[in-house]
Amino acid sequence: MQKSEALFSRAQQTIPGGVNSPVRAFKAVGGTPRFITKADGPYIWDADGKQYIDYVQSWGPMVLGHNNEKIRQAVIDASYNGLSFGAPTEAEVIMAEKVSKLVPSMEMVRMVNSGTEATMSAIRLSRGYTGRNKIVKFEGCYHGHADSLLVKAGSGALTLGVPSSPGVPENVAEHTLTVEFNNLDSVKEVFAAHGDDIACIIVEPVAGNMNCIPPVDGFLQGLRDVCNHYGSLLIFDEVMTGFRVSRGGAQERYSITPDLTCLGKVIGGGMPVGCFGGKRDILTHIAPTGPVYQAGTLSGNPVAMAAGLAALTQIEQDDLYDSIFDNTKALVEGMQALADKHGIPFTTNVAGSMFGLFFTDVKKVTNYQQAINCDTERFKTFYHGMLNEGVYLAPASYEAGFVSKLHDKDIIEKTLQAADKVFATL
Ligand code: PMP
Repeated sequence: MQKSEALFSRAQQTIPGGVNSPVRAFKAVGGTPRFITKADGPYIWDADGKQYIDYVQSWGPMVLGHNNEKIRQAVIDASYNGLSFGAPTEAEVIMAEKVSKLVPSMEMVRMVNSGTEATMSAIRLSRGYTGRNKIVKFEGCYHGHADSLLVKAGSGALTLGVPSSPGVPENVAEHTLTVEFNNLDSVKEVFAAHGDDIACIIVEPVAGNMNCIPPVDGFLQGLRDVCNHYGSLLIFDEVMTGFRVSRGGAQERYSITPDLTCLGKVIGGGMPVGCFGGKRDILTHIAPTGPVYQAGTLSGNPVAMAAGLAALTQIEQDDLYDSIFDNTKALVEGMQALADKHGIPFTTNVAGSMFGLFFTDVKKVTNYQQAINCDTERFKTFYHGMLNEGVYLAPASYEAGFVSKLHDKDIIEKTLQAADKVFATL
């Protein structure tokens, strides 16, 4: 760990906290973040040369595994023609057509550079389209770091939002109403009070930022019904679930059609890309066809588009999902059996290739309160044990895990052997 330690201490001199995104700093689990030098297939390597089986997968997008040969070659080829033009290209057209084909509710698509930009723009569009100010989000759902979305609940479902970060003005946060995930009554209450001024509901259809929490039966349909009733838009933030819980995302898996969808890193095969899209009639309100302003010099960047097209073409053509889902199921079932064997209170959630591990007595975790009441101390010990055994999980207990096409039966088995050793020490 010497090299990671040296790099971390050097990084802290010029980068706040030594990292460019907070969760990377290992604050939640303690210890030194591993500085990564390379990744390939299901593996990553740190600066000290240690190899890990990686269940972070760049926080989701590497459905095909790291360092996919076709994506790499597409990036190399595109780079020979210049890195950025700030003018339209054919690749953007093909990309929009492909996203729209794979996720049919996205009749029109606008490219951006990150998940944060996608959700921020979708919120502005929903406000501009409906002429309303308020938005509804769920406690524990993360949609990037735009002001309106960095808000958590006050003391009850009807309490107006308070900012969860300094720097977010209260008169921005007060338009964000925060309700409980998987609790339709809390949604109905907030609409009963403010429905005429609610532009949209934004939701992670499978929550992946409070560990992994799938929707309970009827929850997403209930959101659709409430939005229809009040004339509000339903936004699915599929930054994590897109091309992960099904080829067509959570909307395909649960058969619910949102008005707008946000996608992120997955459509760039790991490059800095995102997009938002949805009904034609709504998307035409964006500039230059409509008055809602949204723009970006690097949006639709030619190298990023080449990477994204290479990723989505494989996702479209390969018969990936059955085996990824089987392997994910084998992983969580194996983990549960081992925890039971060692007498450790533990439960799991799974949705396609996303999974969650919870150290708790609760049999099924379905909401934020249950997720944050899990035993974080035990998770920390488990985390470092697994790291030591060569398994890299997300360095916080409130994050989902991800399985790629290249996490085959052998990799799952190795992970379970590591977990067996680590559970024995807890
Ligand atoms: N939405 C969701 C559901 C996310 O998980 C994330 C980040 N992982 C974002 C939005 C923000 O994406 P980005 O970090 O690319 O800005």
